[in-house]
Amino acid sequence: MTLRKTKIVATLGPASSSEEVLDRMVAAGVDVVRLNFSHGSAQDHIDRAALVREIARRRRRPVGVLCDLQGPKIRIGRFENDKIRLAPGDKFTLDADCKLGNQQRVGLDYPSLPGEVERGAILLLDDGRVVMTVDAVRGNEIECTVNIGGTLSNNKGINRKGGGLAAQALTEKDREDIKTAAALEADYVAISFPRSGADVQLARELVRAAGGRASIVAKIERAEAIHALEEIIDAADVIMVARGDLGVEVGDAAVPGLQKRMIRMARLRNKLVITATQMMESMITNPIPTRAEVSDVANAVLDGTDAVMLSAESAAGEYPVEAISAMDRVCREAERADDDSQTFKPKDNRQFQRIDESIAMAALYTAEHLNVKAIASMTQSGAAVMWLSRSNTSVPIYALTPEKDTRRKLTLFRGVYPFRFDQTTSDRDRILEEAENELMRRGLVQDGDLILLTIGEPVGVSGGTNTLKIVKVGEHRQN
Ligand code: PGA
Ligand code: MN
Repeated sequence: MTLRKTKIVATLGPASSSEEVLDRMVAAGVDVVRLNFSHGSAQDHIDRAALVREIARRRRRPVGVLCDLQGPKIRIGRFENDKIRLAPGDKFTLDADCKLGNQQRVGLDYPSLPGEVERGAILLLDDGRVVMTVDAVRGNEIECTVNIGGTLSNNKGINRKGGGLAAQALTEKDREDIKTAAALEADYVAISFPRSGADVQLARELVRAAGGRASIVAKIERAEAIHALEEIIDAADVIMVARGDLGVEVGDAAVPGLQKRMIRMARLRNKLVITATQMMESMITNPIPTRAEVSDVANAVLDGTDAVMLSAESAAGEYPVEAISAMDRVCREAERADDDSQTFKPKDNRQFQRIDESIAMAALYTAEHLNVKAIASMTQSGAAVMWLSRSNTSVPIYALTPEKDTRRKLTLFRGVYPFRFDQTTSDRDRILEEAENELMRRGLVQDGDLILLTIGEPVGVSGGTNTLKIVKVGEHRQN
């Protein structure tokens, strides 16, 4: 069976909390689990992370943990009867002073909203299911007329069409949650609604101050983030094409083009990218996806995304395991159809800045012009592997590392398969022979296969890859 290159991120929630379901999800191919800090207590997340890692250990399969911070999502308050129905033409008031809502008004968890909207602004509630136009702002009250009606229930989100709300990217709650993320040793921390590179940089500083080693994911989900895309990508390790909120702010029709642009930009800038939201939406209640959903996942693969993500499908749906199997199947088939992956095209004519980058590019060039079965990289930090994975090569990239943190981080990288490899000697040639034996033992290569090995010298230094060796498997045993 061929390996899947594209990684699967699955959000955990009530539908995926039991050990039995989690185990089946890992067996079905989850690479990274997402803990959504918009729901649940700190202890819930700590327990879930521990359980996932226990299962991963038993299954001998590295699984990464991504903590997704809630961010400044602006929400309405609660209703007397939990929900109301609005019809087009209804008058409705968002009132920062209202405690419990009714058919005429509801409260706000962001008291400065009345100061940030004006007559004519269009507000989208519950991801755009309910739309209203602002008629007037009086003190703490925003008076609106409903354009698109529907049911509105407790604590639904509010976006403003076109963006422009000032809410700080990192809330008090996010700052607390960053400490929880550090305590449970998150591999990735995602920041919601960043507006600038500085927002991302602040998140990184807070994670480090809390003692965390997580890489930073910037969720692109505000209109402003599109204008600051380059600096946000440069400040982050990973971006998420967060199509839910982004579609509300910029309009749904703009999202597919932006997705392609974001994936291309992230890869060119040597960053990772996750494509998220509603990928298998109908599988919340159906055991098979629609043709449109299959196409959506496949197209994200063809765009070059590192990972595809499940949200409610795995967190709250009826078919969490089936949704993962469906993604797995669709990704594999799309990868087979990806004729672009056969040729390594250096990204531009720039000079390489680093020795490990140069070795990675030489390995990729060689792999595409010699019939090579595998690239195996002896790595500490995963730096060389990052360079390797930014080209869409069809040759599998095995990352052999003694570092647990590195293995877990590499779960998100397209085309990379991390596994444990303890170096028992500092003799470089001995290490490479052992690596070759390990690939054999795992059934990944056979006698006579050509493989590419990369390693640094001195051995065991991070970012130190400086050597490429081409080996015919089994030859060292003949001498
Ligand atoms: P969320 O982010 O699921 O936390 O809202 C993703 C998105 O907005 O698409
Ligand atoms: Mn969002």
